[in-house]
Amino acid sequence: MVRRPLVVGNWKMNGTRESRKALLADILSGVSETDSAEVGVCAPFVFIPEAAELLESKSILLGAQNVADEDEGAFTGEISAPMLREFGCDLAIVGHSERRLLYGESNQLVAARYKKALDHGLTPILCVGETLDQREQGDTFAVIDGQLAAVFDLAGVESLANAVIAYEPVWAVGTGRTATTEQVQEIHEYLRRKISEREPEISASLRILYGGSVKPENARTLFGMPDVDGGLIGEASLDAESFLSICHSV
Ligand code: PEP
Repeated sequence: MVRRPLVVGNWKMNGTRESRKALLADILSGVSETDSAEVGVCAPFVFIPEAAELLESKSILLGAQNVADEDEGAFTGEISAPMLREFGCDLAIVGHSERRLLYGESNQLVAARYKKALDHGLTPILCVGETLDQREQGDTFAVIDGQLAAVFDLAGVESLANAVIAYEPVWAVGTGRTATTEQVQEIHEYLRRKISEREPEISASLRILYGGSVKPENARTLFGMPDVDGGLIGEASLDAESFLSICHSV
């Protein structure tokens, strides 16, 4: 099964209108449809309409950094999947560790967000991963199992046919500390095997991204691991040259 790698930039809460336009223009000039990797960017909500215009009929996917667990109503501060679709989004990150840890999003809430994304035709990028403490306690697999179980209970394992998973060890996100290729491959292989036990075909075609301080210097080795199908890139996606170099490392 050939899986086309995917590299997605997560801009987080960075930039100005002008700087994001310039960044996107620079990224666009370095990406072509025939590249080995598919490329996406997850912009802050307010930049999405303009980004969608700039990306119209281009080969870069547009994503949001979160999505509401409801379609509409009295949910102050939330943005729904239908709204994101209307404004041209293809992807939505759900369960990013910053949402889980800084904003207290539970496995159940993340699962509900994931399901809403799918219901409305967005591809969810489901982030899973353990904290340093959990890893040191030997709880890595149990933590990931719990994160996945909530999603499988609500949306079914088969929902992964239209989703992407990103393994992001929390201790490597935004810290400059990258997991070793062995650590990464171990978890990616575990994820694929676990899904394969229930849905072998979906598991074989599922893209599992790695995220956590991916840089131009380490991207090639990380992406070279058999179960790593690209990356979710934070800091290095804010610089077009670095991001493009990572995209071209696939
Ligand atoms: C992320 O935010 O998903 C991420 C991986 O960040 P960084 O690349 O900065 O570690």
